[in-house]
Amino acid sequence: MEDKNGPEYGEVALFFSKKWKNWDCERCGTALWELGEEYQQRVGALVTPSNDGSYSIPGSGTAEVVTIICTNCGNVRLTAKKVILKWIEELEAKSHE
Ligand SMILES: [Zn+2]
Repeated sequence: MEDKNGPEYGEVALFFSKKWKNWDCERCGTALWELGEEYQQRVGALVTPSNDGSYSIPGSGTAEVVTIICTNCGNVRLTAKKVILKWIEELEAKSHE
C-alpha cells in the first residue's frame, strides 16, 4: 500500500467486490459502476451518524471519501476512505500471518 497516495486502485476495487451485496443502482436499477481516476478525491462536508440517531460534522468539516459513479444515470455513491483503508490494513496483516 502506498501511504502517500492512499490505497491502490486494485485494493479499492477489491474492497467493493467483497463488501457490496447490492450492486443495483438505487436510481436506475442498472449495475454499471465505475471507479474512476478521481476515486481518491477529497470531498467535503459529510455528517457522521451517531448511535443515538443524531448527526455530527467531523472536526475538520470534511472527510475523505471514495466515489463510485453509475455510468448510466450519474448517481454517485460515497464511501468513507478510512473504512476502506482499515479493511486493506487488516487484509494485509492477515496475509503476513
Ligand atoms: Zn444509475
